[in-house]
Amino acid sequence: MPILLALCLGWTGSALCLDHVTLHRDGRDIHVDGRLLVTAEDGGLLLQSRDGVLWAVPPEEQVQHTTDDAPFKPYTREELSRRLLAELPRGFDVHRTAHYLIFYDTSRAYAQWCGSLFERLYRAFTNYWTRKGFELHEPEFHLAAIVFADRNSYIKFTRPELGNAGQSIIGFFSLRTNRMTMYDLTKIEALSRYRNRAGTSVQIREILSRPEALRQVSTIVHEATHQIAFNCGLHTRYSDCPVWFSEGVAVYFETPDLRSSKGWRGIGAVNRPRLVRFLQYLHNRPANSLSTLLADDKRFRDPKRSLDAYAEAWALTYYLLRQHPQQYVAYLKMLSEKKPLVTDGPKKRLEQFQGVFGELRQLDADFLRYMLRVH
Ligand SMILES: [Zn+2]
Repeated sequence: MPILLALCLGWTGSALCLDHVTLHRDGRDIHVDGRLLVTAEDGGLLLQSRDGVLWAVPPEEQVQHTTDDAPFKPYTREELSRRLLAELPRGFDVHRTAHYLIFYDTSRAYAQWCGSLFERLYRAFTNYWTRKGFELHEPEFHLAAIVFADRNSYIKFTRPELGNAGQSIIGFFSLRTNRMTMYDLTKIEALSRYRNRAGTSVQIREILSRPEALRQVSTIVHEATHQIAFNCGLHTRYSDCPVWFSEGVAVYFETPDLRSSKGWRGIGAVNRPRLVRFLQYLHNRPANSLSTLLADDKRFRDPKRSLDAYAEAWALTYYLLRQHPQQYVAYLKMLSEKKPLVTDGPKKRLEQFQGVFGELRQLDADFLRYMLRVH
């Protein structure tokens, strides 16, 4: 993620004017109309265009910057559909649901499967937080998901953003573009043997409800959870929301429920694979594990330690939501108000956490005692 300066002059998120910026990047001029979110001390800009994409523009890339008094308005569904279709390779179509625009070049039945999964998750997610006393808002931008028919074109398309990491992940939510990108799970080798040519909605549901598909479907639900959380007021993109917290929410919700067509029984259930990993981690868990999880995001960035960090983030979220739900919501409210590109640093993060949940040592002991009883 491109970062300007940690120190910013101002948050101008509610600007009632439109900024027009021409920037020079990768040998060409790019024109962006949007609202200015942050001006950094060095003159760098964080701009949000009408499709919801965030543009971090350092001073050396800026060619021209003008402002007028036209109000900022996100693209309508039709405008966003048209714009995004123009950015995608040929052959894409769009499937529209209440909150989503699903761009696909695979079967329409698969796009519909995604649409109904996401809408059910959306409903379950927003209901969950309302019941906990935290009111989410409707997304300001239409939620976009891009679904490729095959893995190779997905890898090619995502290379500028992911590099080679696209080879190993089946889908992701981008904080920069605000979009999800993925490919048709029924084309995954281990699952494709169940598929016949027709790919009807019944067959798609049948393939993806198999235990073999659980991990892949969880990944998609996980990414869709991030998108809702970042668009409905749980977190703010490019803010210093701790990774344990945003990932903890995503892993807490990632358990799919494909049996029901209305509810979502999986929410808040024990996430088996994460619990197993966490219990294994306990054999060698350092005494300062909780504080390293909270203070910065390094464990999530280190491939050797990241699976343990995800497991611990799940366990901590599970424990706090069950044992300290009111404090969790108070902490969540504080995090949700964080502004983009303002960095707190480890000391402040620990203070903020302990200010709500109390001293770490005692909480950690209680946390471990509780988790050892979960099964
Ligand atoms: Zn995640």
